[in-house]
Amino acid sequence: MKSSNTMQRQFKMTDRQKKLLDAMAVLGLGTQPQSLIDGVLMDGAGAAIELVDPYTEEVLLAYPDADAALATLACAAAQNAQTAWAKGISAAKRGQVMQDVARAVLAYVEPLATIEAIVAGKPIRDCRVEVTKVAEMFAYYAGWADKLHGEVIPVPSGHLNYTLREPLGVVFQITPWNAPIFTAGWQIAPAIATGNGIVIKPSELTPITTVALVKIAEAAGLPIGLVNVLCGLGPTCGQAAIAHPIVRKVVFVGSPETGRRVAMAAAAALKPAVLELGGKSANIVFDDANLEHACLGAQAAIFSGAGQSCVAGSRLLIHEAVHEKLLDMLARGMNKIRLGDPLDEATEVGPISNARQYAHITGMVSQAKDAGAAILTRTGTQDRGYFVPPTILNNLPNSSNAAQQEIFGPVVTAIPFKDEAHAIALANDTAFGLAGAVWTADVGRAHRMADAVRAGTFWINSYKAIHVSSPFGGSLSSGFGRSSGTDALMEYTSAKSVWLDSAPQPRIAFGYVS
Ligand code: NAD
Repeated sequence: MKSSNTMQRQFKMTDRQKKLLDAMAVLGLGTQPQSLIDGVLMDGAGAAIELVDPYTEEVLLAYPDADAALATLACAAAQNAQTAWAKGISAAKRGQVMQDVARAVLAYVEPLATIEAIVAGKPIRDCRVEVTKVAEMFAYYAGWADKLHGEVIPVPSGHLNYTLREPLGVVFQITPWNAPIFTAGWQIAPAIATGNGIVIKPSELTPITTVALVKIAEAAGLPIGLVNVLCGLGPTCGQAAIAHPIVRKVVFVGSPETGRRVAMAAAAALKPAVLELGGKSANIVFDDANLEHACLGAQAAIFSGAGQSCVAGSRLLIHEAVHEKLLDMLARGMNKIRLGDPLDEATEVGPISNARQYAHITGMVSQAKDAGAAILTRTGTQDRGYFVPPTILNNLPNSSNAAQQEIFGPVVTAIPFKDEAHAIALANDTAFGLAGAVWTADVGRAHRMADAVRAGTFWINSYKAIHVSSPFGGSLSSGFGRSSGTDALMEYTSAKSVWLDSAPQPRIAFGYVS
């Protein structure tokens, strides 16, 4: 097991490393990512993992993989804390603790946002919004903690039959690198509101803010050990936690390829899973739409967050009558987008979050070029960092790789359509079913499209509006199960059916008294 000092000495401290370490110190963290188990920051014993700054391409920090041993400790800690959390205090008290957590998170917006901006490469103004959303998630589910009850069912036998919604026990959550603290809050808040204990494994590329969030929550009154964070790799500590007998359910947010592996491992242990996976969402613009609004919507849909969003509007379906006009507007608009240092207040789009994703996106663009795409990109280049300029791929069919595979970058494939039926056919012609949108002035058409397009979330004259109170999820290669809103409360509980016989004689059809 390497100590943090040994690993840090390998690197010369840069300004950005210093900013990162300062923010980590404010949050009570050490000088490298460490797992948080039973309230204790712990080093793993596995292979070294490097965090690389996507803006400078320099190594920021390195740390050892948590490995399977820490997964076992994390599961045991979560189980110990969960019983008292679920049964030892009132549901109202659980809600009060969660309200305290929500307030505490708001006191640390700046260091959390700074870490996220440096490590994930996301513009700091976006990071601040995501941190405040996390506080909102805790506050929202705090309100549900004492409002979750069962029902009385009028069974024909005359028994009193009622249901209880029970926590599952310990759940294991796995999250990706594109919105680390947001995704952590999104899954932790409903799980603890319903009385569960948690082991969570953030992406090995962006683990720090999840650890910080749990430390903040513990300082605000969340029982120590109720939520445990594993900093490490999927195939090691991730798989160990999925297989651990204490874990009752797996909630995975990430790519379809990994989701398949996670679901198979969960199934092998007869555990249910929720999969929140990728998308190839259709953003559909009709010729009667307000084109200025549609243009803004199309930019937000694919260029915000450098397109690293599961709901990105990565297929822009445009009515043939306005296809060229809208592309022209988009091309001119994207030249005004401010790319740059994620720590710069003016930056609207930062670099791609990591080298692997950068290679994937640039590979997909060059493949699209070979396939005959006409490519429009934002002019101007960055002299360093994993930057991909906002890019439009034109003249490719919906069957092309660029239109069928998740690029997960600021790259949109523009496809013309003839009429409503054609737009619906194109929109549904993918393996995914996550999100979609329509831009039109025709209210009836808007509702017809909302009905016909296969998507867990659909926007009318809007894009990317989401809220913790509204269900979120997909179908097919976009996964299964739902997060957010009351749907998440159902995912994190199970129903128990209780039967009480009030008749003078038991209503039992078979049996003898000896
Ligand atoms: P990824 O699938 O590579 O990794 C996600 C997580 O899985 C990480 O924590 C990773 O360490 C872990 N993992 C990797 N291999 C594993 C294994 N064998 N066993 C267990 N865990 C393993 O995804 P990513 O590249 O981090 O994120 C991008 C993907 O996430 C995109 O496809 C995006 O659409 C998707 N995503 C979906 C949503 C949603 O809500 N639907 C939200 C955000 C991102």
